Amino acid sequence: MSRPAAPRHSVPAQPLTDYDVIIVGAGSAGLSAALLLGRCLRRVLVCGSAAPRNVTSPAVHAFFSRDGVKPAELLRLGREQLAPYTTVQVRTAYVTAIESTANGFGLTAEGDTGRGFTATTRKILLATGVADELPPLPGMRELWGRGVLHCPYCHGWEVRDTPLAVYGQGKTVTGLALLISRWSKDVVVCTDGPGHLTNNARRRLRHQKIQVREEPISHLEGNRSGQLRHIVFENGEKLARRAVFIHPAQHQRSDLAQRLGCRRTSTGAVWVDKGGQTSCPGIYAAGDATPGAQKALIAAAEGVQAAMTINETLTREECPR
Ligand SMILES: Cc1cc2nc3c(=O)[nH]c(=O)nc-3n(C[C@H](O)[C@H](O)[C@H](O)COP(=O)(O)OP(=O)(O)OC[C@H]3O[C@@H](n4cnc5c(N)ncnc54)[C@H](O)[C@@H]3O)c2cc1C
Repeated sequence: MSRPAAPRHSVPAQPLTDYDVIIVGAGSAGLSAALLLGRCLRRVLVCGSAAPRNVTSPAVHAFFSRDGVKPAELLRLGREQLAPYTTVQVRTAYVTAIESTANGFGLTAEGDTGRGFTATTRKILLATGVADELPPLPGMRELWGRGVLHCPYCHGWEVRDTPLAVYGQGKTVTGLALLISRWSKDVVVCTDGPGHLTNNARRRLRHQKIQVREEPISHLEGNRSGQLRHIVFENGEKLARRAVFIHPAQHQRSDLAQRLGCRRTSTGAVWVDKGGQTSCPGIYAAGDATPGAQKALIAAAEGVQAAMTINETLTREECPR
């Protein structure tokens, strides 16, 4: 008589945690990871609060098959396509704390109505993104994403062959200005005070016919739809420009990784290995919060990578050797 087949996966009849994976952040990285994990029949909770990083931008560009889609529409589609995967739940919630437990992690969150809840999980994926620190120049924040741009790969094509400026000082502004000169022959570097440019930087900029203006700036003047019209210097002079590019400093949108003790890089990003595993067992990270290029498509790909690593790790834990 043949013996009954041993179970392929040693999953307890009564799961020890509410979820297999909790994903913190419902941007490109988080939703893309949720899709992959849903397809693996994993019990997933996605907690996302507030807007994604590019909320002020009119469109997401250079996203294969979705070029020009509105940021909110991209995420709406992402959520809509999770619907068939009934083991995936998406909640509008802000995760306030995560702690280790015997079977994984316990999470505390605040829902959109302000009601708190807790949940337990075997693994955590942090897809919490970064926040940009804009210079305190009047107009910067108001025009951010439309007249003030951060990335020529995302928005250079839309302002090609128009008068452009690059704001900043030192090495960063030089590199960005040289890059932008691919999209326009009329680029001015505005350093808003001493530019701290080396002679070599000035020579390279001159060679590309990029002018340097070191006068202090009073404010940026735009129109109602957020397009830049002028950079206004403190001496009252106006420089007509269609857009200004900056490379703002940034910080982690969430301090959860830091509180959990995850290793961070010198730039403050959450360190991960090639599979998206952080330095803390059971905790993974993906998207802008991790090192490397910051683009929606790359964040989505990193979400998929981390999700595959998580599923394979869970499978190894479930399959007896
Ligand atoms: C102005 C602008 C325009 C851009 N344009 C483009 C473009 O055209 N093309 C392109 O490819 N890329 C563009 N980007 C870059 C793109 O926005 C990012 O690469 C992408 O959003 C990263 O996705 P993410 O999921 O890692 O992070 P995010 O999209 O920032 O999502 C992270 C989410 O996590 C949430 N969160 C954080 N902490 C918590 C917590 N504790 N609990 C619950 N939720 C939390 C945040 O509120 C946020 O919604 C642009 C960026 C900016 C600033």
